[in-house]
Amino acid sequence: MRRDLLAGVAAAAWFGLAAAPVVPPVAAAFRIPRTLPGLSGVALTFDDGPHRQGTPATLEALRAQRAVATFFLVGEQVERHRTLAAEIVAAGHAIGVHGYRHTLLLRRSPGAVRDDLRRALDVIGSATGTEPSLYRPPYGVFSGPALLHVRRLGWRPLLWSRWGRDWEAGATPEGIAARATRELGSGDVVLLHDADHYSSADSWRRTVAALPLVLEAAAAAELPLVAASQST
Ligand SMILES: [Zn+2]
Repeated sequence: MRRDLLAGVAAAAWFGLAAAPVVPPVAAAFRIPRTLPGLSGVALTFDDGPHRQGTPATLEALRAQRAVATFFLVGEQVERHRTLAAEIVAAGHAIGVHGYRHTLLLRRSPGAVRDDLRRALDVIGSATGTEPSLYRPPYGVFSGPALLHVRRLGWRPLLWSRWGRDWEAGATPEGIAARATRELGSGDVVLLHDADHYSSADSWRRTVAALPLVLEAAAAAELPLVAASQST
């Protein structure tokens, strides 16, 4: 009951403006990592792709700085852009699962969640030739049964400790970069998006424009950018 209540609070908060102070205690209650203490560097993570334009542009910006990142893919988007999903892996980045459909877990039955995750793994695995073991739910909101199932599968749930709020219509590249790199330290996990499938139109363009600033800030702090899967 308590878990469902906490998750409900997080879900309600997500859609308002108060997510930042609410998500950390919920993550702590569920024992869901927001940082990766074993990481020597920072993990940039990109959710919601692949995207026909956003993913290649993101890959190019990362390539320019030889940065490695982790992409949490959505199964229904991988089905549309299988080649792009494979290109992410070919470029040396890590893959995580973000579900098959991008809907809130709390609105789905445990059986429906299991089916969704199985389908996501099938699609993402076959398109990328990888066996992803990192998982992040849509909107960062878990349900109790979903978390149990994810752990049973042996996947590692991962949220984030920094975000650019790059999904917002009013976001600017400078604002995204400033939020994403505020007090950045080793083990931080940064949430960004290479796709606008579930956010404001063209949000990926602002994210891509913010990337050189993000990479610059990490370099200035002498923090290498590494895959989330490199953490033990
Ligand atoms: Zn998402």
